[in-house]
Amino acid sequence: MDLAIRGRLAIYYDQTGKLIFTKDPLIIVEDNQIIDIDSFKKIKQYISGHDVIGDDNQLLLPGLVNCHTHLSMTLFRGVADDLPLEVWLKDHIWSLEEKLSDTDVYYGAKLGAIESLLSGVTTTSSMYWYPEQEALAMADMGLRGMIGAPVLTEKVNLSDSFKLVEEHHDTADSLIRVNITPHAPYTATSLDYRQSFLKIKEYNEKNSDKPLVLMHTHLAEAKDELEQCRAFNIKHGENFPDVKTIVKYFQEIGILNNHLLAAHCIHLTEKDIDLLSHNKVGIALNPVSNSKLGNKMPRVKEMIDKKCILGLGTDGPASNNTLDLFDTIRYLGLYYKGHLQDSTVIKASQIFKMATLGGMEALHWPGIGTLEKNTLADIITINLKKPHLTPISSDNSIISHFAYSMKGNDVENVIVNGKVITENRKFESHDEERVMEEVEKRIYRLLSE
Ligand SMILES: [Zn+2]
Repeated sequence: MDLAIRGRLAIYYDQTGKLIFTKDPLIIVEDNQIIDIDSFKKIKQYISGHDVIGDDNQLLLPGLVNCHTHLSMTLFRGVADDLPLEVWLKDHIWSLEEKLSDTDVYYGAKLGAIESLLSGVTTTSSMYWYPEQEALAMADMGLRGMIGAPVLTEKVNLSDSFKLVEEHHDTADSLIRVNITPHAPYTATSLDYRQSFLKIKEYNEKNSDKPLVLMHTHLAEAKDELEQCRAFNIKHGENFPDVKTIVKYFQEIGILNNHLLAAHCIHLTEKDIDLLSHNKVGIALNPVSNSKLGNKMPRVKEMIDKKCILGLGTDGPASNNTLDLFDTIRYLGLYYKGHLQDSTVIKASQIFKMATLGGMEALHWPGIGTLEKNTLADIITINLKKPHLTPISSDNSIISHFAYSMKGNDVENVIVNGKVITENRKFESHDEERVMEEVEKRIYRLLSE
């Protein structure tokens, strides 16, 4: 059944980057598209024959876009905290991951999809083992998403990644896309990065009717990443260019371009920021994970000033420890100002853009992250009748509430690809209890093996 969604106010960026407020809005959804959005008075004649959801307490927003996570790592939430990045990754996470089964990953991803949807994320970009299981879990829960298996030179080669593209890219009613995902410059050689890019380029040129395949990787997360990368390449017999930064290294090996989705981008020079902007690299900022793992904040103000493509990510739930993007939104706004001791360095409206339209740009997924007419119907509604969201004194106060007081559990209804996924915070499948039990059972087993 087609949908008509009512609310008190709708807010979104249109695809030209203009912030739009619609009072007393009505959104008409047919199939998977928003076919109209305007005030109720103007388009109410289209309501007949549509299921009506929402009421005059609801704020209508585009579904949020999580540009970087490792969805199934819900399994490892809370199992290793308060450790340095390298120790956390090598001594704890990687040893547990060696014992993972495909079914573990399915349930981890399913829990991640439930948590994401309940907090308003309708598109997520994941990089993890058994990616076909992540795809299955996302599609089962109705979450739009990107998958990709980490390419690690010493463990996993590229050929499986392209098989994954052939089998899963643009499947499940176009909910699922596949990316090629070299893990990081210190775990995949320059040869792997170059070959990934050449194959992506060839695939995208041959399949111009299909959505783009991107390269999704971690970049400039660790302070000594360039040194680690140099040592790793030399160990594997690769020549290493004479460069001073890891971004410059990506440029030298020919992979800095608009097919790149780079997570973190913390340790950057002014010139690096210019390069990322000029080459239209999609950047996924993960401020909560960065802080938790003892990294500094990325240079967000300079990136905004230089018009970088910026989206937000939670990173995996073992390093955050939640997939609630509202938590990242609030943290970025508050902590970044404190970090620079300057309350003017980032605006609520800029954070709103990163969580919605910026995500669309970073993931190269036209139609998501907005409520504009003729785009994909990924819509969330927020119940505004809450003490912490009162008063609404102006349109701009809603943007302030979005960035500084809204929480994931304020999300009441979630629509993805034109389908109602949760209504009044309930999934039709009522699967949540069983999935939580499965995940607990599986982490007990993994920790005791
Ligand atoms: Zn990550």
